[in-house]
Amino acid sequence: MNVVELEVVTEEPSQQSAEEPPHCTKAPRTSRRALLWADVPDAQWNDWRWQLSHRLNSLEELSQIINLTPEEVEGCRSHHFRVDITPYFASLIDPDDPNCPIRRQVIPTSKELIAFDGMFADSLNEDAHSPVPGLVHRYPDRVLMLVTTQCASYCRYCTRSRLVGDASAQFSRHDYDRQIDYIARTPQIRDVLLSGGDPLTLPPRVLEDILRRLRAIEHVEIIRIGSRVPVFMPQRITPELVDILRQFHPLWMNLHFNHAKELTPEVAEAVARLADAGIPLGAQTVLLAGVNDSVDVMKELMHKLVRNRVRPYYLYQCDLVEGAGHFRTTVSKGIEIIEGLRGHTSGYAIPTFVVDAPGGGGKIPVMPQYLISQAPGKVVLRNFEGFITTYNEPNDYTGHTVARPEHPVPNYEAGEEGIYGLLSGAAQHVKPEGFDGMHRRNTIQAAPHGKVTWEPAPLPITPSNGHNGYHKN
Ligand SMILES: *Cc1c(COP(=O)(O)O)cnc(C)c1O
Repeated sequence: MNVVELEVVTEEPSQQSAEEPPHCTKAPRTSRRALLWADVPDAQWNDWRWQLSHRLNSLEELSQIINLTPEEVEGCRSHHFRVDITPYFASLIDPDDPNCPIRRQVIPTSKELIAFDGMFADSLNEDAHSPVPGLVHRYPDRVLMLVTTQCASYCRYCTRSRLVGDASAQFSRHDYDRQIDYIARTPQIRDVLLSGGDPLTLPPRVLEDILRRLRAIEHVEIIRIGSRVPVFMPQRITPELVDILRQFHPLWMNLHFNHAKELTPEVAEAVARLADAGIPLGAQTVLLAGVNDSVDVMKELMHKLVRNRVRPYYLYQCDLVEGAGHFRTTVSKGIEIIEGLRGHTSGYAIPTFVVDAPGGGGKIPVMPQYLISQAPGKVVLRNFEGFITTYNEPNDYTGHTVARPEHPVPNYEAGEEGIYGLLSGAAQHVKPEGFDGMHRRNTIQAAPHGKVTWEPAPLPITPSNGHNGYHKN
């Protein structure tokens, strides 16, 4: 008997510590609320208006609930980007752990003021892609529509800190008119993504009006809302709000989660309400140093999301944005995390890791290399365990795209066909700006008899290929 008891005693602590996330291991949440907001009745605490109007933002308020480090004190005194934290989200912070992942995301520190190589105010060059204010048209068939500058709380690594949080710079009815007008007269837009700021902070009637006007546009097939309100202020996801949203199907939502600790019972309930309304839910996560930059922490988050019917969508490399330097990881950390997920857990629990290209190149997926080698008729692949296999390709495959001359390569705008254009034969090459001038220097002298010989001869147009394998211009 004694032996058994001894074994239990010695095993228990080590098992526990292996399963616990590295930060904020104590979860004194309920007691934090009871301790700090003891005089606030449930009816108020659970009212999103109360949460919004009692947000914490000053050094005085924050130092009453958190043992701030000198760096955080400095950050609270002089920050470039607005601070505001709902009491609900603040109640999740571990007051004694400067590495608490909840805390790191919303409490400013003096590190935000440190500049770094490659830093931008608008790292994705969104302003250059905006045909009208607040509308980013970066991809052929979809747009990002910024409908507000306000959020329920402010993430310290915000990609749009250049415009978010500024209470004096709000989008107006006139801006919405221009955005919606552009969408209405641009028939290639089949997908509109509402973001900001956080669209769910808008007065419900304003949001409903925007959704209704978008729905009235025939070529808009789907509408998406990007939001972090369910995480910062789950109280906002009321049955009434959900009833508004469910009128506009197909409506998708992408929620922003960075750590399993954010998925509290309150958040789970809010998320369930959205899922029950038939809204497909995705999640986007930003890879953040000291918050979620480990396979274990990320896997726990992904599992918890899937359990709550939220499908991980994107994992973002942290943008090169002012204030976010101390949150940045190497790109290899993201690849390592995907390596630790793919094959090891459900495919549903694996997001696509992307680098949103600085300068406006859009999202670029990055992943471990699974295709190891190739020869005609054969590819060599490896799996997550390191098992290496070959796939024999058919040697009589033609496919059906080349046999459809009545469906030529779609009419893309200049440059939009991209690498697919190379594969489909719409273009022969993609070249950097200035390439031609640079390489034409000596063409005539070098070629015998002044003949230019490097261009491929045009193929005859045949019914089977439908085009001449040559760029049209
Ligand atoms: C992310 C993004 C989209 C949507 O991209 P998906 O890959 O379709 O989710 C659209 N426009 C802009 C500007 C974006 O940054």
